[in-house]
Amino acid sequence: MERTCRNTELSLADVGKKVTLVGWVSKKRNLGSIIFVDLRDRSGIMQIMIKEADKAPDIRNEYVLQVEGTVSRREVANPKMKTGEIEVIADKINVVNTAKTTPLIIADETDALEEVRLKYRYLDLRRPCMQRFFDIRDEIKITTHKYLHEHQFIEVETPMLAASSPEGAKEYLVPSRLHHGSFYALPQSPQMFKQLLMVAGFERYYQIARCFRDEDLRADRQPDFTQIDIETSFLDQNQFLTIMEGLIHEIFMNTIGYDVKLPLRQMTYKEAMERYGTDKPDTRFGIELHNLKSLFADTTFETYKTADAIRGICVPNVADTTSRKVVDNLTVEAKKFGLGGLAVLKMENEELTGGFVKFLTEGEKAALIKEFAMKNNDIIIISAGPDNRVSPLLGAIRLQYGKQLGLIKPNTYDLLWVIDFPMFEREIETGEIVATHHPFTRPRDEDLPYLDTDPTKALSYAYDIVINGYEAGGGTLRIYDQNIQKKIFNILGLSDEEVQTKFGYFVNALQYGTPPHAGMAFGLDRLAMILGGTENIRDVIAFPKNLAGVCPMSGAPTPVTDKQLEDLGIIIKKD
Ligand code: ASP
Repeated sequence: MERTCRNTELSLADVGKKVTLVGWVSKKRNLGSIIFVDLRDRSGIMQIMIKEADKAPDIRNEYVLQVEGTVSRREVANPKMKTGEIEVIADKINVVNTAKTTPLIIADETDALEEVRLKYRYLDLRRPCMQRFFDIRDEIKITTHKYLHEHQFIEVETPMLAASSPEGAKEYLVPSRLHHGSFYALPQSPQMFKQLLMVAGFERYYQIARCFRDEDLRADRQPDFTQIDIETSFLDQNQFLTIMEGLIHEIFMNTIGYDVKLPLRQMTYKEAMERYGTDKPDTRFGIELHNLKSLFADTTFETYKTADAIRGICVPNVADTTSRKVVDNLTVEAKKFGLGGLAVLKMENEELTGGFVKFLTEGEKAALIKEFAMKNNDIIIISAGPDNRVSPLLGAIRLQYGKQLGLIKPNTYDLLWVIDFPMFEREIETGEIVATHHPFTRPRDEDLPYLDTDPTKALSYAYDIVINGYEAGGGTLRIYDQNIQKKIFNILGLSDEEVQTKFGYFVNALQYGTPPHAGMAFGLDRLAMILGGTENIRDVIAFPKNLAGVCPMSGAPTPVTDKQLEDLGIIIKKD
């Protein structure tokens, strides 16, 4: 199709030039004898002036046009538009295709519900603000390929149809037509394959890998997502992290021109939990958690006497807006975290007030005011109970206040490594021991003895990169000693037999000269989301699923025919 250039390639310097443009009608204004059309192409908008309106073809929004005309200086420039100083006076308009009235407005500002946007995603993606997200996403990938190749990495693809492996999350299974009753599993990540590539001697691997996890969805999670997956041999933790920091620096620079200061700081998991109540702290604002255990050492309040942890936060200047309803909502929040409630105290007229004050001695009151350097109109929120509930609760409340009080400056970025994660954690409901990261994570040398005494005390060589409170990536040094690997499987409750059936090939491979190796994976979607400035991961995925795991456009997942099920040897149980 003939086209001389894209819209935004033209400027005042082209006035007088004959051009042929193509694009979609973004807007049409009929002024009687003259028609103005905003023609949108991938690059942006160009105003087209049609002088003989009566001779113009029928033109409506989203029609596809080919316009021949002459570039001309506008009488009144529009400084908001890239091409605002010029317009194209049409000689000839060719309606290439018509369009039905679209169910959503194709413009950055749209009032369409997300469900409608997802149903007509191809129209939603036509909006310039959406295309910008994909430019950022694309730039992340280009930068990654370039940087990693410059650092001797090679890209290797690993199977999508893999063996089921209990890495952590639930898997998506794919029934085998040739082997009824057997299933492939879609990879949660290429974890074992990339480690085997290290055994194979590749030394530096990466892959922009599709991964699949059947987990509850959230604003920042999708069932199929993309990772920048990386594995290296012969590097210690800091050598490895330095290379990864270089990659992140390049990505920030090339996408949004932001100069990330290196080296990134490192914070232990313990410190992150104690100060922020989360392993992915948003450190762009304060309201840090305080440990109040020793302050309440002599408490007579029964719940506090026996509590595993007592922690609190101070929120500045909100006492006057902390109504009964606000306190009730905070209590509801505490219950969600499995706690009975929490205490809210206000500083009013230089005095602590609130229902909980009656349980406090004068000494405790003074100590609390001092601990938080409280000023009038501040509040403190105190929670007591098991630490794995108390800290996350206060962490979540802290975050809500950070957002609500506008304490986070827009367009600021805070990056850090969180390191030294525990090897294992206990599931809150079942008490079962599970791997914090995954079962191939190497325990810290000094913590190896804990594997035989109290494994939950062992810390690991694990690191997450946290950006603005999001876990943007994570990884570990790997176990390369088969005996330790076996021990970890046993701690996780896998018998030798189960290990053989589930990971036999992997454990066997470790016996053939495995190099020390380390790796990580960055969440490509999350990076695109952070750099694109959206909190909704679906914005940076072309055809995402909604929160119910459904694609409103294609309807996936859909029922299949009886014949398809029969071929696969599957009978559906009717509930
Ligand atoms: N496979 C891990 C993950 O997906 C990352 C890694 O350890 O390399 O979280």
